[in-house]
Amino acid sequence: MTELLPNHVGGRWQTGSGAGVPLFDPVVGTELARVDATGLDLPAAFDFARDIGGAALRALSYCQRAGLLAAVVKVLQTHRDSYYEIATANSGTVRNDSAVDIDGAIFTLGQYAKWGDALGDVHALRDGDGVKLGKEPVFLSQHLQVPTRGVALFINAFNFPAWGLWEKAAPALLSGVPVIVKPGTSTAWLTQRMVRDVVDAGVLPAGALSVICGSSNGLMDQLQPFDVVSFTGSAETGALIRSHAAVAHRSVRVNIEADSLNSAVLLPDATPGTDAFNLLVREVVREMTVKSGQKCTAIRRILVPATVYDAAAEAISAKLRGVTVGNPRNESVRMGSLVSRAQLNAVREGLAALQRQTTVLHNGSEQALVDADPAIAACIGPVLLGAKDADAADSVHDIEVFGPVATLLAYRDVDHAIALAHRGQGSLVTSLYGSDDGALARTAVQLAASHGRVHVVSPDVAQTHTGHGNVMPMSLHGGPGRAGGGAELGGLRALDFYHRRSAIQASPAVLAGLGLH
Ligand code: NAP
Repeated sequence: MTELLPNHVGGRWQTGSGAGVPLFDPVVGTELARVDATGLDLPAAFDFARDIGGAALRALSYCQRAGLLAAVVKVLQTHRDSYYEIATANSGTVRNDSAVDIDGAIFTLGQYAKWGDALGDVHALRDGDGVKLGKEPVFLSQHLQVPTRGVALFINAFNFPAWGLWEKAAPALLSGVPVIVKPGTSTAWLTQRMVRDVVDAGVLPAGALSVICGSSNGLMDQLQPFDVVSFTGSAETGALIRSHAAVAHRSVRVNIEADSLNSAVLLPDATPGTDAFNLLVREVVREMTVKSGQKCTAIRRILVPATVYDAAAEAISAKLRGVTVGNPRNESVRMGSLVSRAQLNAVREGLAALQRQTTVLHNGSEQALVDADPAIAACIGPVLLGAKDADAADSVHDIEVFGPVATLLAYRDVDHAIALAHRGQGSLVTSLYGSDDGALARTAVQLAASHGRVHVVSPDVAQTHTGHGNVMPMSLHGGPGRAGGGAELGGLRALDFYHRRSAIQASPAVLAGLGLH
């Protein structure tokens, strides 16, 4: 029997009373650990976090809580090697892909520690200047932001067990709001281990950070009016969260990061052989292969002028032919595994659906694996599909295949490209490639309303741009419509979700005593 990973709730470690759900190594198929939340006293767990954890965090100022984040960074850095081992074993990722998750998490926490420190020794945040409510400045309205007096529940996806926790926990803890995280089950081990290390190091107040691994049953039922819930996962589960009574009847604030049919757009000036054309090819291949395409921000649709469709197909395919796939422990392997056999089946099903309306331009789905048994490993090589009639290929704009799969689409002119990008019905990110700064800027503004982020790659930023799919804490993450309508990160904007805005209407003398910077 493998270890049953304990949950941390009510200020202590508690194992579930059931047999547990096994977590597997997706490459060699061995069982690694089990998770279970059966029998936990959830009302007591949420009360403890809300009352004990919340009060302790709110007693600290912003810069003191920033100090807590800095202490968490130190703990995680100390144990970093063990996180890489868990990621290799449980997520099947090569070292570079594990870094996106683990080092991305530590970097994001470090940023919030720095920004939080600059907020100073205060307990509420000024929101604009006081405005007079009458003719004379004797009675004014001062808006401010105060931490919500509830708990933040995170229901997370399997693909970012480290970053998915800390990119949310950093702004929540900095805001003074305690966190309860329920990781995606298949990769819960890394989240659980990180929480274990931080709790055992004693750097956070009791109740500030809890972890519940296993079933999500009953979690949403615990939420009360001042709590918030942040969900990352599929659109289907997102719809369940949104329609839960806690949200519908108790006005629990909700943030949803769901699936997204992100695009990359090659502008007409970027003909084959130009730097911009080559930059698109490089970025598409990177996005298809990093974490085996299991990134919510990965490029799913590649929009190119019809005249360069064939050249783009050939250039992308040529690079994909060089991608080695298999056991991440073998140094020659560039792309590791999907997270589970279930995920592999889902990718194969999605591929079959897309193939009904597309042609296969590069087929890595049957390629030989390095050091891995195709009957056991959840590995699949990259697949590039194509459709010259981009309007007719409905499924490409509708089905997110969460793996190393993308579709090349031909457009007539820039307006057509913009219309096709919009058919994703709201996406996390689109990237533009070209050398004409004016055309890039005009197209970026056209796409901004339907995308959380527009990543513009011109040759002058070839070495410095941060990557289409890389979520930087300084920039907004989240997209409208299909992408869930959420908003995370974006520097201190992330704190909004964990705060309540209020207007204090009073005399200047009273307002002077609010303790705002
Ligand atoms: P999922 O099946 O929707 O699961 C997400 C989380 O919800 C898991 O923790 C899951 O628990 C939990 N869950 C399942 N049913 C639930 C219910 N009825 N009530 C409450 N929680 C429930 O998604 P996934 O397969 O893990 O993740 C892949 C998807 O996430 C992709 O579509 C991807 O695009 C999206 N994603 C989006 C972002 C973003 O930032 N926009 C980031 C990463 C991933 P179990 O694991 O125990 O089932």
